[in-house]
Amino acid sequence: MPSYDPNNIFAKILRGELPSYKVYEDDKAFAFLDIMPRAPGHTLILPKAPARNILDVNPDDLAHVMKVAQKIAQAAMKAFDAEGVTVQQFNEAAGGQVVFHLHVHVIPRHAGVSLKAPASFKETPDVLAAHAERLKAALA
Ligand code: 5GP
Repeated sequence: MPSYDPNNIFAKILRGELPSYKVYEDDKAFAFLDIMPRAPGHTLILPKAPARNILDVNPDDLAHVMKVAQKIAQAAMKAFDAEGVTVQQFNEAAGGQVVFHLHVHVIPRHAGVSLKAPASFKETPDVLAAHAERLKAALA
């Protein structure tokens, strides 16, 4: 497996070198909206410590990311009046991973509404900002 690249796009977001629509942060995890959401409220949860994916992450960091994913899923149910939540996590290119800093996808779902295809649609800044506020309010 290749080694962790500190210049991947999520590492830059974690360092504050690139902007993001932040939803949640603590000392070990960071969550922000996917800019190409597969459904409204699609959120990504990352460990702050460098990890390429599930194959090299520290198990305690992975456990913490999943705790935060649960919080985000519960908030997403409220914030988006969702009927369900899809949780996804991809590892290496063959496993569907595109950005190589470990992340968990939390996607609010409604019955009968299919997910948009990956990277098929870029949401507008106004909508993303409003959705981040909705999720933060539901987390409070
Ligand atoms: P994965 O690596 O799990 O396949 O997915 C990477 C995810 O990152 C995709 O859902 C994609 O839409 C999202 N993504 C790619 N570039 C950016 C970016 O610059 N900012 C944000 N917030 N999301 C991104």
